[in-house]
Amino acid sequence: MKKIMLTGDRPTGKLHVGHYVGSLKRRVELQNKNDFDEMYVMIADAQALTDNADDPEKVRQNIIEVALDYLACGLEPEKCTMFIQSQIPELCELSFYYMNLVTVSRLQRNPTVKAEIQMRNFEASIPVGFFTYPISQAADITAFKATIVPVGEDQLPMLEQTKEIVRKFNSVYGETLVEPDILLPDNQACLRLPGTDGKAKMSKSLGNCIYLSEEPEEIQKKVFSMFTDPEHIRVEDPGKLEGNTVFTYLDAFCRQEYFAEFLPDYENLDELKEHYKRGGLGDMKVKRFLNKVLQAELEPIRNRRKEYQKDIPYVYEILKKGSEKAEEAAARTLHDVKEAMKINYF
Ligand code: ATP
Ligand code: MG
Repeated sequence: MKKIMLTGDRPTGKLHVGHYVGSLKRRVELQNKNDFDEMYVMIADAQALTDNADDPEKVRQNIIEVALDYLACGLEPEKCTMFIQSQIPELCELSFYYMNLVTVSRLQRNPTVKAEIQMRNFEASIPVGFFTYPISQAADITAFKATIVPVGEDQLPMLEQTKEIVRKFNSVYGETLVEPDILLPDNQACLRLPGTDGKAKMSKSLGNCIYLSEEPEEIQKKVFSMFTDPEHIRVEDPGKLEGNTVFTYLDAFCRQEYFAEFLPDYENLDELKEHYKRGGLGDMKVKRFLNKVLQAELEPIRNRRKEYQKDIPYVYEILKKGSEKAEEAAARTLHDVKEAMKINYF
């Protein structure tokens, strides 16, 4: 069986470091290992419209921002097909047929959708499109016969729902669709990176992000005002690591070589953590170190992004070609689906 990767992002804002450690970094690594037959990365504009119906301009503008973030992180159009969801009408058709295989109560039980409905104050007025987006996501994944989907932990329920749809489809109409596997980050801190405010998830919609395109001064400002242990007041106080965002970020971003470079008094992260727990290590010293780590990680990304930004028509060209290629693949699957359902009449 072919090894096919599919994943994507909603163009609701620029991408942030949570996206990077949660999914983007993994995609680039997979791409560079060259062991996939096909790789697809989708800018999910149609999905973004399900909760931004009144602001298509925001979605439109962020398509290019997300594409720039992809290229800046090292995705290459020759190896990885980057495309725009709305340009593939086959995805709507697939969703329409999958809708018959899912119950309303099953959708209501999806914990990510539940949390998102609450976050958006949709309780009394959930748009139908938003409510059913897990089905459209199943269409996105299965249209490309994806075997691997590298995403953050919040996407687990979506993958579960996709697998159920695949099983149901195959059992009713015959073996047609492929069950995908989720690929979660292996680093605990990256599963769901918290926001700079310490809130559960860094999210474009919560305004607690460090963006991949952020300028150095802004990164420093955000790191210096980051949430730590509220009971760690004086330097000599013992500190807590649980829920301490600065340490979570170090877990996610710190490489061993940064100690020799920026903090030679310590051997490694464990030693730094031990000192903090014992007391005698101030928050500011740890924040200064984290700032240097993040600056080192983000500088090459930001610089590459600025280069691509000089030629926006080229970026659109990449997306156009990618969308054409993606549509061919989706059309093949839709054909198989209609054959299986015996609704290919002519
Ligand atoms: P929105 O608020 O519009 O939903 P978002 O910030 O949640 O935006 P998405 O486009 O929904 O971003 O998510 C894109 C990908 O990034 C998904 O794979 C998701 O799991 C991952 N991701 C998003 N935020 C984080 C995070 N804080 N930590 C780890 N992974 C994340
Ligand atoms: Mg999201």
